[in-house]
Amino acid sequence: MTATTAEFEPSYLRLHRSGELARRAAELDEFLAGCRLCPRDCAVDRRRDEIGFCRSGRRAIVSAHAPHLGEEPPLAGTRGVGNIFFANCTMRCAYCQNHEISQHWRQERRLAVTPGRLAEIMLELQGRGCHSIGLVSPTHFLPQVVEALGLAAEGGLRLPLVYNTNAYDAVEALRRLEGVVDIYLPDLKYADPAAAWEYSRTRDYPQHARAAIQEMHRQVGARPVFADGLLRRGLVVRHLVLPNDQGQSGETLRWIREELGPAVLLSVMSQYYPTHRAHRHALLNRPLDPGEYELVLRLVEELGFEEGWIQTFDSPDSYRPDFSDRRHPFG
Ligand code: SF4
Repeated sequence: MTATTAEFEPSYLRLHRSGELARRAAELDEFLAGCRLCPRDCAVDRRRDEIGFCRSGRRAIVSAHAPHLGEEPPLAGTRGVGNIFFANCTMRCAYCQNHEISQHWRQERRLAVTPGRLAEIMLELQGRGCHSIGLVSPTHFLPQVVEALGLAAEGGLRLPLVYNTNAYDAVEALRRLEGVVDIYLPDLKYADPAAAWEYSRTRDYPQHARAAIQEMHRQVGARPVFADGLLRRGLVVRHLVLPNDQGQSGETLRWIREELGPAVLLSVMSQYYPTHRAHRHALLNRPLDPGEYELVLRLVEELGFEEGWIQTFDSPDSYRPDFSDRRHPFG
């Protein structure tokens, strides 16, 4: 029998009751000492506020938090995901649509939060009726998030966590999230290391992102759980289609199909527009063309994906297209 949202209990509550959640937080805190939270392995001591590639120190930095209705329909529901937007990033995407948050270093100190404050934010979002807590770009603040989660659970939090990531995550760190995160929402941006370097300064992205997504799939991906039309546990892999096939959509989708199977929840996104430093790259310096998007959607059908969502493509000027579930399931 399918549980209702009221009956669904997020996995971390069991870990909290047993004391395991606190143990995971302590383990992850060790990752900060010579930071290896992401594959860059900067090895700086962030517990002493040393700064690595992501420009982040001891404290988590929260740029904003709010209910968000723009995610896929079974995540957004009617009241939205309670998104917590973390500052800074482990990558440097030239076209980042959140660049004011992810690559604007001066916001750091002013917006740093204690674990207690981060727990309060989670509870505030629950109080506003959100269906889940969305951690947006949390990779470099995982220890702080898990510590705060324990405090929030103590304070009555009972919403599932959505781990919304660029997928440049260290598998060793992700293993500590087993039973903590119920919903993984990774991007898979590139298949080609040269493109990952050119546009995101992350040459080893394809190999690490694929390994990270396989680990997420191992944890939650095999059998998604829905309740009252909302996704409560599972894996949704996002792919943003880039102009001139600079995200290697064919190779990327084939890898997803072969490695994760046809039943994986796939989300194909059309919302690219040239922002931030995209104008420096000739092949990215225009919106997506409807024809090139249609080719990708045709491939999705040919590959036999069974479930997922596509963003509608209203016009090249429509930069915030809605997700359509008219093709859910695909085909
Ligand atoms: S999380 Fe930041 S400091 Fe740590 S390894 Fe990654 S980029 Fe470097």
